[in-house]
Amino acid sequence: MLHTDTSKPADAALHVLQTIYGYDAFRNQQAEIVDHLVNGGDALVLMPTGGGKSLCFQVPALVREGTAIVVSPLIALMQDQVMALRQNGIRASFLNSSQTAMEVNGVETALMNGDLDLLYVAPERLMMPRMLDLLSRAPLALFAIDEAHCVSQWGHDFRPEYIKLSILHERFPDIPRIALTATADGTTQREIIERLSLQEARVFNDGFDRPNIRYRITENQGNAREQLLRFILNEHEGEAGIVYCLSRKRVDEVAQWLSTKGMTALPYHAGLGNEMRQQHQERFLREDGVIIVATIAFGMGIDKPDVRFVAHLNLPKSIEAYYQETGRAGRDGLPADAWMAYGLQDVITLRQMQGNSTAEEGRKRLEQHKLDAMLGLCELATCRRQALLRYFDDNLDHPCGNCDNCLTPPETWDATVAAQKALSCVYRTGQRFGVSYLVDVLLGKEQDRISQFGHDKISTYGIGTELNSTEWRTLYRQIIARGLLHIDVEGHGSVQLTDTARPVLKGEEQLTLRKMAKISKKSQGRKTRTFSGAANNTLWDALRDHRKILATEQSIPAYMIFHDATLAEMTERQPQNLEQLGRISGIGERKLEAYGQGFLDIILATAGSDNDQNDGINDTAANSISLLKQGKSPEDIASERKLSTNTIYAHLCQGIANGELALSDVISLNETQIKEIQFAFELSEDGKMKGVFEALDGEYDYNILKAIKVSLSI
Ligand code: ADP
Ligand code: ZN
Repeated sequence: MLHTDTSKPADAALHVLQTIYGYDAFRNQQAEIVDHLVNGGDALVLMPTGGGKSLCFQVPALVREGTAIVVSPLIALMQDQVMALRQNGIRASFLNSSQTAMEVNGVETALMNGDLDLLYVAPERLMMPRMLDLLSRAPLALFAIDEAHCVSQWGHDFRPEYIKLSILHERFPDIPRIALTATADGTTQREIIERLSLQEARVFNDGFDRPNIRYRITENQGNAREQLLRFILNEHEGEAGIVYCLSRKRVDEVAQWLSTKGMTALPYHAGLGNEMRQQHQERFLREDGVIIVATIAFGMGIDKPDVRFVAHLNLPKSIEAYYQETGRAGRDGLPADAWMAYGLQDVITLRQMQGNSTAEEGRKRLEQHKLDAMLGLCELATCRRQALLRYFDDNLDHPCGNCDNCLTPPETWDATVAAQKALSCVYRTGQRFGVSYLVDVLLGKEQDRISQFGHDKISTYGIGTELNSTEWRTLYRQIIARGLLHIDVEGHGSVQLTDTARPVLKGEEQLTLRKMAKISKKSQGRKTRTFSGAANNTLWDALRDHRKILATEQSIPAYMIFHDATLAEMTERQPQNLEQLGRISGIGERKLEAYGQGFLDIILATAGSDNDQNDGINDTAANSISLLKQGKSPEDIASERKLSTNTIYAHLCQGIANGELALSDVISLNETQIKEIQFAFELSEDGKMKGVFEALDGEYDYNILKAIKVSLSI
């Protein structure tokens, strides 16, 4: 126990928050939860990822007498959590199967002596009679059960050992327990309460919203890989992200392909062997800007705060899975993207997998229901966040303004007649064919196969020429997603009518569908990197470099030294002494002592240096640059100096190259236009002006292209 000098528990908790963590105040319900636990109550905490769950048990652990036992499902990540705590001077340890007998002994002794604030234990370890026995003799502060949704048998993260955790209530009735999760629909919440015997616990529901995550679900237009590349290059170049794929083969292929495009992309799946998987995960956590391409087996418990995007090249099986996976983006609260490309084949594959499942009926129905909800989310034309939150019984009473449907509302159309054609074509061909064949019949293609079956004689042959084949495939996808068609389970992909199709076929029900998105070169997003463009780039970079050196020395991820947000605040406020530095959020007593002087020295030495760079520029260029800074346009400068506009731009490009001018000083395009041009350069084989000029349909002047090219190469 630390800091007993404050009399009331609430004061003690705030004192811990400020001195140990360096944070000013509790967020949302944190204070109440902490207070409740400190006073011995049980709690179930539902809080979104990044909401600050850890402090809810860590602070009480420090305020209450004895050790807090933290049950966490992933052994591999315990070490990271413990290291992060130790950075703040907190006495934390873990027990797992990777330790030697001597190490285990040391930890157990510390526990018995009351020398630990927190002890992380895997559930299977906790349940061992010897461990329980040990605990019954140790001074305990509380039990924290992290990722409590693992107790749910229907969930995708089910861990059988979690069910046995109810024993804690029986063996230690007087020790407070706190269960925490970021994903639990109503059913799962009830399951947690029942299985962990938390009937008496107070439920704290902070909702599930992750306002900093922008949700986007796009159609796989047959080139999902390229769509992904475009998305990364446009919005997240050099940033950390996770790409999910369904199969190992696809993971390897996509990782390989992204690597050929100059990215650090590492595969992660069960087929890689433990050592390589571990190594890739470490690199993802420790290096900047690594992309992990993974099957869904990657990510639970990943605490990396600066994952800027999560991309899905597959369709998750449920909204819970989607929410859990996308939730790994932006834990630090800064803008992040959840991006997905999905298409007809995804729907077919998942439906078939379900059809072939040997699970019992009740479970099959539930899985079916969950997939339907996921498909519904994909085909939605209104706010995605509202729908997501509604699924978790959480209400958002206005559209969010930060999802694709809010930002660019999709057009919808009355698809009743087209759907009738599509459905009756299924019927007329005997409900034995797949979508590709059906589309060919609708379009009246001349094919031997069609004539052999005599389908060139049926009434739906050639009646669908008003749509092209991509549009028909989209339509089929949409009506399959809505359950109007059923996919056969044998795996041939043939479709059959369901009862739901009848009212549409008979014209009793109208069908409104979203229009296929136009393929657009323009990016819908924005660069989410928030700080690298901060006022003082030199200082920002110097601070990051210093952080990296410290992290490497200790073999820990850079964010454990300080988060980006803390460095950004240093850049902005430029504290002049240790006392001022200590007031920055995220700098507690221990870190101030360990790292304060080092960072302060850099701030004092580097600050302001951005203002005096003028090297390497000849006088005539410097003259043009200074006229621009006086507010004159390049054209004005040209006529004033009796030089050509091209020459002036060449001068200004020198200014961009040496950092004296920002791109936006020289050209006045919006971000989307700039991105479009940058992308054209990235796609061009040789980077030559002419090719890029033509690729952009001559829309932009050569001088503009030059300026952007220069800005890309610095
Ligand atoms: P969760 O476990 O809910 O995903 P974390 O506990 O990892 O979230 O917290 C997310 C981030 O927010 C962490 O970087 C944490 O240090 C920070 N944080 C949590 N509570 C506060 C607070 N009261 N003030 C400032 N930062 C906080
Ligand atoms: Zn929205």
